[in-house]
Amino acid sequence: MTERYDAIVIGGGVMGCATLHYLAELGVTNTLLLERDTLASGSTGRSMTILRMHYSNRVTTEMAWWSRGVMANFEDEVGSPSGYQQNDWLLFPGSGNEDAARINVNLAQSVGVETEALDIDEVYRRWPYMQFGDSECIVWEGKAGFADSHLVTSGFANSARSRGASVRLGVSVNEILHKNGSAIGVRTDKGDIYSDRIVLTIGPWTNVLLEQVSDPLPLHTVRHQVIRLQQQDGFDDIAETFHPIVVHIPSGLSARPDTPGYALIGYREDPVDRDTYNQGVDTEVVVEGVGILADIIPAYTEAAWASGWSGLFTVSPDWNPVIDRVPGFDNMVVGAGFSGHGFKMSPAIGLSLAELVTGTKQTTFDLNPLRFLRFEEGDLLKSAYGGNVFA
Ligand SMILES: Cc1cc2nc3c(=O)[nH]c(=O)nc-3n(C[C@H](O)[C@H](O)[C@H](O)COP(=O)(O)OP(=O)(O)OC[C@H]3O[C@@H](n4cnc5c(N)ncnc54)[C@H](O)[C@@H]3O)c2cc1C
Repeated sequence: MTERYDAIVIGGGVMGCATLHYLAELGVTNTLLLERDTLASGSTGRSMTILRMHYSNRVTTEMAWWSRGVMANFEDEVGSPSGYQQNDWLLFPGSGNEDAARINVNLAQSVGVETEALDIDEVYRRWPYMQFGDSECIVWEGKAGFADSHLVTSGFANSARSRGASVRLGVSVNEILHKNGSAIGVRTDKGDIYSDRIVLTIGPWTNVLLEQVSDPLPLHTVRHQVIRLQQQDGFDDIAETFHPIVVHIPSGLSARPDTPGYALIGYREDPVDRDTYNQGVDTEVVVEGVGILADIIPAYTEAAWASGWSGLFTVSPDWNPVIDRVPGFDNMVVGAGFSGHGFKMSPAIGLSLAELVTGTKQTTFDLNPLRFLRFEEGDLLKSAYGGNVFA
């Protein structure tokens, strides 16, 4: 018997599951998500899940701000907790980047984000246990934070399932079936399944399926290491052990508190093969990363290395995502190239992909800057800090 759905989502990371949820919100519930492994087994489950709104482009600022609202009210909006933890967020622009930082602050303020470029006296007054070097200003956001990637991903999936969607794990899509410029279904390792709407959200593996039906996207994968630290005695002197999230532009390091008594450092972007990369952490990277963090929060000098992991960023040429229809197809959409900062925008991206694949005339966000063909058109998005994850 032919199996047929109103939409098929390929990939069970946060983007696929968010899309399934927003399809249900749009009334499309006869849907199927296919994941070859388990939910959040790709980049999503390795994410540091930092939520901030500081971006160089209006569309990403708006997406991050709107999504932060969903993450903070997940229980009401999606029906289960997201593990959201609100936290101050501080960006160290480094010398020469202060003007760019102030421009981004103005952009975020215009979108409604609570943020300021604070002068040095003010940051020392607020966080006396931190060191700010010779920075002219430090960017602060008051409604940043982090969430739990597994809770968010399964929350989106369960919300859709409760309205009729199916989620099938351990099924690999090997081919996209198409006829006369229309997607008609997928060929999996368990058989063919049909639909007139296909959503491609397979993270680092995007081009494996995409290049069967179109030009590939110019994506590459880098390894980002995450170091988990256990705070030691130095924290007895700090009233606020739950310190701000830190982004240090000159080194590319980010850090955030984790469960009480622990912290995470994210560091390094090394090109690797997506299928064979080292998923652990390197001792020299731990030493370097802890050194940078301890220069900012000296109490980390005594921290103990608890554990760690590595994950993949799927990077586009301008370090910003592609959210679009696949060229030549009006019923197949792709969300890819999140370049290490997609988690925070996943609600907005899920909504956008759901709107695109159902043919919504006026999408909630202006997706033109994130179009598929911008790279070959030479119309890349700008980034205040050069090409990196802090796009
Ligand atoms: C170390 C690290 C730290 C990060 N920190 C942050 C952060 O602090 N803040 C932030 O906003 N973002 C962060 N990110 C980025 C964020 O996690 C990603 O942008 C996001 O998780 C991407 O989700 P995805 O669903 O597109 O991809 P993935 O999570 O990789 O999901 C793709 C899924 O597709 C499946 N799949 C692949 N091929 C097939 C196939 N043929 N058939 C069926 N299924 C298939 C895979 O098994 C996988 O589960 C971080 C990422 C990493 C790696």
